Amino acid sequence: MNGASATPTKKDLRVAVVGGGICGLICAVGLTKAGVNVHLYEAAPKFGEVGAGVGLGPNAIHVLKELELLDKVVAKSDLPKPEIRPCHFVSGYGDHEVIYDYPVKPEDVGLGIHRVAFLDAIAPMADPARTHFNKRCVSLSESSDGSEVVIHFADGTTASADIALGADGVRSVVRTYVVEGVEGYTSPGRFVHASFTNSLVYRGLVPTAKLVEVGVRTVMNKTVVSWNGLDKHIVTFPIKGGTIINIAAFVTDRSKPPSLEPLPQPWVTQHSTEEVLSEFADWGPDVRAFLGCLENPSAWAVHSVNPLLDSYSRGRVAVLGDAAHAMLPHLGAGAGQSLEDALLLIRLLSHSETKSTNVELVLQAYDMMRRPRGNHILESSIKSGLIYEGHGPSGGSIQGQQKDLPGIWNIWYHDQSADFANAVRWLLEKKAFT
Ligand SMILES: Cc1cc2nc3c(=O)[nH]c(=O)nc-3n(C[C@H](O)[C@H](O)[C@H](O)COP(=O)(O)OP(=O)(O)OC[C@H]3O[C@@H](n4cnc5c(N)ncnc54)[C@H](O)[C@@H]3O)c2cc1C
Repeated sequence: MNGASATPTKKDLRVAVVGGGICGLICAVGLTKAGVNVHLYEAAPKFGEVGAGVGLGPNAIHVLKELELLDKVVAKSDLPKPEIRPCHFVSGYGDHEVIYDYPVKPEDVGLGIHRVAFLDAIAPMADPARTHFNKRCVSLSESSDGSEVVIHFADGTTASADIALGADGVRSVVRTYVVEGVEGYTSPGRFVHASFTNSLVYRGLVPTAKLVEVGVRTVMNKTVVSWNGLDKHIVTFPIKGGTIINIAAFVTDRSKPPSLEPLPQPWVTQHSTEEVLSEFADWGPDVRAFLGCLENPSAWAVHSVNPLLDSYSRGRVAVLGDAAHAMLPHLGAGAGQSLEDALLLIRLLSHSETKSTNVELVLQAYDMMRRPRGNHILESSIKSGLIYEGHGPSGGSIQGQQKDLPGIWNIWYHDQSADFANAVRWLLEKKAFT
């Protein structure tokens, strides 16, 4: 493996993490803290995130606490500590009738943070001697005796390791390797399973003071607000102590079945405010007023993993984060699932019994524990979007949505320690651990 090591390691196991976004970085830092020899390979010249805010739910907060990283992340956020984040559902039309106030419990604390701030909090803990930029993975292979995985980069170099973990996002190359391992599978293209969801999201930030000026009456700087409509919905939430409102306006084309292909690049395009307003021409006054304040809105073509993966691992290789389960962002749960993946991998790979000789079974245990939950949250995100956009099981009326919305966020509390214990039990049964 490349690079001189700086941090002493307790184990011989050599782990390569491909991709240094939220998920790969947390995984690499957590493994390093646990004494595992891990190298991180990132395609970009430095750590960096496109996009605006990311909402971390109670499960993500739990992972950060377990990894003793929460204080660092909170210190880079605008809040003194994680807080309850209520969600208020209103109609996008007419006078914005209240549909539902999602009940929150005192323990339902989360954190809204800018993506760049999140990476800034964690990146200083990555071992510089084991962090490699400008390393775009183009393919993977097994060494001839099957004892190593070889990672091939766009610059013609390679690295070998006992395990490769693909945290290379929605356009994952590592996922292609994992999926192609399924018997009889023929790859249709490079980014296997990154499919366009038929949803575009217009995004932008608006100062709260500006919203007051233009006469918005709904309180937008205290809670998340979901403005629901037909085939469209808008999510707004406060950042920077409520002084700025993050706006994400979704438009879904349901005239055609969900695609099984990615769109051609670019997936992010610039639009005029007038274009966004024309999409919401028949919506209510507050929506028209705040959309009119968007300056240089960008539109993102939302992609997800579709169809669901049959396995998150193949031999010495596994996928995590968006590489495994990129999902519609309608529950604000993608990053949390990524962190849950990372926590289980950190626990399993730092286990004293995990060795180069049993890693294939260890990664199978990871797949068995994480795939049902990751795939379930992906499917729940689709269902919640259908409710917000008038196609829930009880229909698009206010009463129908009131029937369907309760319980959509019954996803935060999952016993992550039980997953680890069950994985270890299975490895003992398989005699991989003694
Ligand atoms: C509009 C929108 C809003 C969202 N809001 C929320 C939210 O509020 N809450 C929430 O929990 N989630 C949210 N999500 C989802 C969340 O952003 C993702 O689940 C999370 O960022 C995934 O992190 P990741 O590290 O797996 O992938 P990424 O962040 O995509 O990181 C992948 C990394 O891998 C690198 N890379 C890519 N290809 C290669 C390669 N071949 N070789 C080497 N490196 C490579 C990239 O440069 C990048 O650094 C949202 C998503 C969208 C689209």
